[in-house]
Amino acid sequence: MMSHEPETHLDRGRPWGEDTIVAISTAMGAGAIGIVRLSGPDAIVVAESVFRAARGASIKPDETYSLLYGHVFDPESREPVDEVLLAVMRRPRSYTREDVVEVHCHGGVAAQRAVLRLMVRSGARLAEPGEFTRRAFLNGRLDLTQAESVAAIVAAKSSGALRASVRQLEGGLSDRLRTARRDLIGLLAHIEATVDFSDEDVEELDRGSLAKGLGEVQVELLKLLRTAFLGRALQQGVRTAIVGKPNVGKSSLLNALLMRERAIVSDIPGTTRDTVEELLEIGGVPIHLVDTAGIRSGGDHVERLGVERSVKAMEQADLVLAVIDLSAGPDEAECRLLGDLDTARSIVVGNKCDLLEGSREALTEEIASRASSGGTSPQGRRVCAVSALTGAGLEELRLLIQQVITGGEDLHLEEPVLASERHRVLVGEAYESVGAALDGASQGAGEELVCEDIRAAVSALGRLTGEDLTPDLLDEIFSRFCLGK
Ligand code: GDP
Repeated sequence: MMSHEPETHLDRGRPWGEDTIVAISTAMGAGAIGIVRLSGPDAIVVAESVFRAARGASIKPDETYSLLYGHVFDPESREPVDEVLLAVMRRPRSYTREDVVEVHCHGGVAAQRAVLRLMVRSGARLAEPGEFTRRAFLNGRLDLTQAESVAAIVAAKSSGALRASVRQLEGGLSDRLRTARRDLIGLLAHIEATVDFSDEDVEELDRGSLAKGLGEVQVELLKLLRTAFLGRALQQGVRTAIVGKPNVGKSSLLNALLMRERAIVSDIPGTTRDTVEELLEIGGVPIHLVDTAGIRSGGDHVERLGVERSVKAMEQADLVLAVIDLSAGPDEAECRLLGDLDTARSIVVGNKCDLLEGSREALTEEIASRASSGGTSPQGRRVCAVSALTGAGLEELRLLIQQVITGGEDLHLEEPVLASERHRVLVGEAYESVGAALDGASQGAGEELVCEDIRAAVSALGRLTGEDLTPDLLDEIFSRFCLGK
């Protein structure tokens, strides 16, 4: 196909939108309402063939949105199948930009399946997973990152994940990516123009301004890459291990953060033998807290198992809360533990500050110096004095946890976040290619080589938004959607 509408992706991928698709769009199971959705050129015809409106009303051809009350009936037996509401949305003002009819029937497997079967008998085809959203993409209503955000919204398990996905659907991420891609294309055009007309009276390629332009895009991409940890955290939660010697107050801290009793608190050292996991939200980010058995070498067999588990939990953790008891002197094992911690992904928590004189600030400084006696410098260490008993310092601890998640920035879920592995990989590719182009430009590499790197970055960004894509890529993305979406 030679001609194509600039607004759509009609000429890409396989034939689409020629038929009318149908699926149950709500989760299967007993619910009050179930929605069977139709989309395509015959959506309204198919719906009308099995719908009888109350009091002789009918779907009006000139209404973009309408809601009708009536019954779905079996055209063969003339028997009513379910009492329903019919929502009609005419193209292009619908989710897919095609004619869409949603049948709101009773929830529950039997009613939804019966309505679905009638639709198929009347000429609709069962939709593939993600096919409605795929059509929305192919019809130019959403770009690819927006389409992906729809799956992310459905999967969101925390308020932060939901907020970030809704922002992505609104186009926050797409705007950034498109701007970066457009800037790179502008730089390419500039280089190509100076190369093509080099014999004529066109100014020489200004390598300084080229490097500046590339540098600006590189900074933008780096900003996005820095959100990758937060993106993963929003999606999968932050695995947080609470570690420390027995009796320092790990279980109490877990409870204080959860604000409810969960782990059994005891004052016999070494009784938290297994690991306890809890989920909480900090700043909208899901946090999986794992209370491990006290790190203490030796002990009996069961306790050793517990110690092994806590070392493993630490290795697997995204964040480690290393708890020390401020009222007890630091011992060697404790110092060694603190010395081994990854400063970027850990917080040293000095507990039981209520037992000591002095301000929390002074105690925090003391912890910082204790933490550095493990052989590392106090620089960049996150430390905090708290009392799991009174709750003092817990707010500060929450802020420190947010800082680890965002890599030191404030937590702004309104800003675009790289939420999926696909986004992280492609933005990473674009970033590397822009870096290579920048090196080339400043080290006097040939124009063609610089252009090649810029083109690689443009292509990676295009695969992100869907401006540059292959049918395989579409299959890969939309097959991950659930049925009816
Ligand atoms: P774990 O073995 O590290 O999990 O420690 P626990 O949470 O079981 O606490 C051990 C003992 O310390 C219990 O008697 C707690 O009541 C006490 N404890 C925990 N946190 C605090 C605190 O902040 N202040 C005081 N005074 N006691 C605490």
